[in-house]
Amino acid sequence: MATAVVVGSGPNGLAAAVRLAQHGLAVTVLEGSDRVGGGTRTSELTLPGVLHDDCAAFHPTGVVSPFLASLDLERHGLRWRWPEIDLAHPLDDGRAGVLDRDMDRSVASLGKDAVSWRRLFAPLAADFGKIAEEVLQPVLHVPRHPVALARFGLDALKPATWIARRWKDEPARALFTGVAAHAFGRLDTPVSGSVGLMLTAAGHAAGWPVAEGGTQAIATALVRVLEDLGGTVRTSVTVTGLDELGTLLGEAPDLVLLDTAPDAAVGIVGDRLPPRVRRALGKYRYGPAVHKVDLAIDGDVPWTNEDCRRAGTVHLGGGAAEIAAAEAATVRGEMPTRPFVLVGQQYLADPSRSAGGVNPLWAYAHVPHGHPGDATDAVLAQIERFAPGFRDRVLAVHTRTAPQMAAYNPNYVGGDISAGANTARQIALRPRPALDPYALGVPGVYLCSSATPPGAGVHGMCGANAADSALSWLTGRRAPTATRRRDAPPPPHDER
Ligand SMILES: Cc1cc2nc3c(=O)[nH]c(=O)nc-3n(C[C@H](O)[C@H](O)[C@H](O)COP(=O)(O)OP(=O)(O)OC[C@H]3O[C@@H](n4cnc5c(N)ncnc54)[C@H](O)[C@@H]3O)c2cc1C
Repeated sequence: MATAVVVGSGPNGLAAAVRLAQHGLAVTVLEGSDRVGGGTRTSELTLPGVLHDDCAAFHPTGVVSPFLASLDLERHGLRWRWPEIDLAHPLDDGRAGVLDRDMDRSVASLGKDAVSWRRLFAPLAADFGKIAEEVLQPVLHVPRHPVALARFGLDALKPATWIARRWKDEPARALFTGVAAHAFGRLDTPVSGSVGLMLTAAGHAAGWPVAEGGTQAIATALVRVLEDLGGTVRTSVTVTGLDELGTLLGEAPDLVLLDTAPDAAVGIVGDRLPPRVRRALGKYRYGPAVHKVDLAIDGDVPWTNEDCRRAGTVHLGGGAAEIAAAEAATVRGEMPTRPFVLVGQQYLADPSRSAGGVNPLWAYAHVPHGHPGDATDAVLAQIERFAPGFRDRVLAVHTRTAPQMAAYNPNYVGGDISAGANTARQIALRPRPALDPYALGVPGVYLCSSATPPGAGVHGMCGANAADSALSWLTGRRAPTATRRRDAPPPPHDER
């Protein structure tokens, strides 16, 4: 039986492990932390019984992921729960733009931009299944849905600020710009609108749900699938070199998949890395960071705008220009006075996370890479700006600065939760320009983290794609005469 080791148990590591195990490999996942899940962990960070998502909270990419959908994770305990409104973006004048699965409800919040919003997003939402299939794989591929991809791609190449200019009023402009800011970068550069288009279209197509009981439920379900297939996970094992894997497992594995940041991969693979790959990975850039704030609050947030009181996610940053300026500042290494802040009210969709009338509130600010300062006050001030009286409801606070985020998970280099800057180059060709972006140039060794296509998010597609790439290589090594196409699904284990 062929063997594989996956280093790291984030959603991509677990997805890779499942894909390999589905093809008959004996798979061991080695995780440095004492808990599985990477960015999909949930903890009692503030008060007993109050559940906080340590990292990922909302799952527009999870619910549309073809790989996660194929696993029937619901059978293993995962339940998606949708808030009444998916996302609200309040403004200082009391209005708010709303993004929702119900297009009518969304455009009702957008006044004179209703028609134009619908014209852009209704076709993208209608075709979202096809678009997701295309954009959740490496850029260099033969498209199966060229028309849907072209419709998406023509706008996706534009800067977010250009796309926002098609709307006349602030609710629509700010709503789109806030979603585009999930890319953590300048919003006036080419391709910077792509993440905003993707997440907005996903919101209209499938919503921004949460996982019942906390995001950890996704990791738990993936581990159950893996264990059903005979795979195992070992925690508290930090891998520092390829050679130690043979000692750890009793024999050197046939495949090694690294759910790590590229610089950690360079350290693990060491001198075996071909110089051209080492040089290319040396040019890989990390982006701005997060400052995370989790709060236990008495009751609800007293938002001025009614829609915010029913929304799972609330984006805080004021108007489009203010958000673009704050994002540009973080890229320059300057801490904005009013940073872009995301607030999560997961408990509205999933009351099991609360303890009586005490609710968990999840928030983070975009801050410069490696920012050592404590941005908690800036986060609280942004909430207070749109919810006067909020501070009086705070019962307990837990914070993680950018360096503490990096200590919590080594993939968050400098606090960058995307495992790499979303520049135009790195959105299109991460981690390096190559026909197979997962291969590290060492036989059998692959990168499978969100530093590979399609990038950050809890969708498992980086892991599944990397596993396919590894399986193709293994197939070729074992049956060199095979005429299998590179993009064909790998064979069942028996075929090899
Ligand atoms: C605050 C925050 C909010 C977020 N919000 C969302 C959201 O709402 N929706 C969403 O879709 N995404 C969100 N994300 C992003 C999402 O969590 C990540 O994109 C995703 O977890 C990446 O998955 P991954 O498997 O590539 O890596 P990770 O989840 O980072 O997992 C990597 C794992 O590898 C382990 N590891 C690394 N190096 C080694 C080693 N040498 N040896 C052993 N183990 C190692 C780490 O300990 C970690 O467990 C958020 C992230 C953060 C931090």
